[in-house]
Amino acid sequence: MAKHFVCLTFDHDNTSGAIARELTTPTMLSRGDFGIVAAAHHGWTHRVPASLGREAEERELIRGNEAIRKLTGRTARGYRSPAWDLSPYSIQLLLKHGFVYDSSLMGHDYLPYQARDRDIAKLEEPLVFGPDTALVEMPISWTLDDYPAFEYMRMANVIQPGLMNARLVAENWLADFTYMREHYGWGILTYTFHPHVIGRGHRMLMLAQLIRDLRAGGAQFITMDQAVAEYRLQYPQGRSERGR
Ligand SMILES: [Zn+2]
Repeated sequence: MAKHFVCLTFDHDNTSGAIARELTTPTMLSRGDFGIVAAAHHGWTHRVPASLGREAEERELIRGNEAIRKLTGRTARGYRSPAWDLSPYSIQLLLKHGFVYDSSLMGHDYLPYQARDRDIAKLEEPLVFGPDTALVEMPISWTLDDYPAFEYMRMANVIQPGLMNARLVAENWLADFTYMREHYGWGILTYTFHPHVIGRGHRMLMLAQLIRDLRAGGAQFITMDQAVAEYRLQYPQGRSERGR
């Protein structure tokens, strides 16, 4: 039987995204006032793991987990790196600290896989894949993220225009589900939202309609934890992703 799952995931950056970019004026900080809620592990300071070094990256994991344990009674099972850029140490650190899945890599649109570790990529030499690990990867994409589509950001050297028409973005997002339904008997599509981005009125109307359209198209909405369980049922031996 065909199964087409959808995960609606929410990254709660709050003020951390602005502070990590040294954008600390009152207006920049006020963006983080919009919808403060606790969630899974998304870094402690929202600094990009690839920029930190191993020790600082591990401290981020530990401090974030301490806060999550205080709020929920347990440490996080899933991780989504700030700005989606893991470091060479991330996979090992996530395994060391008991994470079950990551959702920061972009190796597939619809099929989870076992996260690889220690690929060797050198200019003008063949790429050498590292081994698959026990960490399940729930892949994501910038195309399924509300942030670049909608959030206007003016920084020292770059402007992120955002502010796209919500209805047109919804068309893209729904089409990615339609493609999955037409080309895959089984799959998981993960959308990424930020409360301070998707939570604006016209975008909430769009999201409500998107959910109705997805449901009408046969989508089953599940949590990331449930998605990992479904993946393990579908691929008891795990799935390797080494390019298509
Ligand atoms: Zn974030």
